[in-house]
Amino acid sequence: MAAAGHEQVVFHADDRTGLRAIIAIHSTALGPALGGVRFWQYASEADAVRDALRLSEAMTLKAAAAGLDQGGGKAVVLIDPARPRDEATLRALGRAIDELGGRYIAAEDVGATPRDMNWIALETPWVTGVDEADGGSGDPSPMTAIGVLHGIRAALREVFGDPSPAGRHVAVQGTGHVGSNAVRLLVEAGARVTVADVRPEGPDALASELGVEIVAPEEIVRLDCDVLSPCALGAVFTATTIPQLRCRAIAGAANNQLETPADGDALHARGVVYAPDFVVSAGGIINIAGEFGGYDRARQELRTRAIEETVGRVFDLARERGTSPARAAELFARERIAAVAPLAGRWRPGARTAWSQGRPLERLRGA
Ligand code: NAD
Repeated sequence: MAAAGHEQVVFHADDRTGLRAIIAIHSTALGPALGGVRFWQYASEADAVRDALRLSEAMTLKAAAAGLDQGGGKAVVLIDPARPRDEATLRALGRAIDELGGRYIAAEDVGATPRDMNWIALETPWVTGVDEADGGSGDPSPMTAIGVLHGIRAALREVFGDPSPAGRHVAVQGTGHVGSNAVRLLVEAGARVTVADVRPEGPDALASELGVEIVAPEEIVRLDCDVLSPCALGAVFTATTIPQLRCRAIAGAANNQLETPADGDALHARGVVYAPDFVVSAGGIINIAGEFGGYDRARQELRTRAIEETVGRVFDLARERGTSPARAAELFARERIAAVAPLAGRWRPGARTAWSQGRPLERLRGA
């Protein structure tokens, strides 16, 4: 397995607590590498390394496309079902993160909880997602949902020349943290909304609260609608599902919506406007990036609303280069990194960037 293009990959093993973790830093060309801590039971260490490499590169692209001054990284913790996840293990991880001196900044990801983040924060200031009471930004999903709404607006403008969701039919797949918030925003904006979830509680609650329609989980992808908004799991668009689509556009929060890069081309060829997932779903990372230097929700919301403009720029770039929006989004991110990399180089502790002035220790002390 190659760590092609990755700056640094650290394997951390701690005998006292049994912690085994990999921290992959893909790029710090734009700033310190920010990315989630994933807790997962991997079949092998090689699988864990592969996941860390793949996910850290995706974070680089997401941060770059969002216009953030930060790079991409990821930590994966190999769960051992025989050992409890306790304070000592998380603090050992906090020390491993601290040793990188701020080159990697941790965030919540699959399997992580705010309590984990608080334990990590006992050992290092280089962590986001701590409780609001400790100066953090709390649950990122409401902000991610604001980003989804603005991604949908950009997609509607691309299809109809008018970004307003009023009177448009939007199908939301998944009514969890992000999906339910997105549904509320869409209804408020005057859209007709249909939802589906494998667990009935979410759709039932939204139907009685807002009067949205419900369809079966297998129906939502082939619903006749203006926009399909995937807010559940990845790999929604495949060689099997793409021919069944009856939506005009796609814009949602789910990570890795395309099963393969070729699926982005297939959507384009079919005339479905695809707002790339890593651009649309950036609200959460935009939100946590604001934790350093004094968190201000209103400011981060304005930055998240700019996702509408960014998605529009990706559509323009796709037109200019004669390619699909999926490929254009990657070009958009990589070209920004390539333009800035010669100026910035590798980020190191103490480098004079906006980040070094963020004074994270003072943030954690509530200053
Ligand atoms: P969540 O677990 O709260 O919600 C996901 C929902 O999808 C659940 O209700 C689940 O039952 C449902 N679901 C699963 N499989 C389904 C299927 N086949 N059909 C319909 N529904 C299905 O997760 P979340 O935090 O709302 O995140 C949703 C997606 O957005 C994930 O892919 C996540 O990685 C991505 N994302 C989330 C954030 C965030 O801020 N939470 C940020 C960026 C990206």
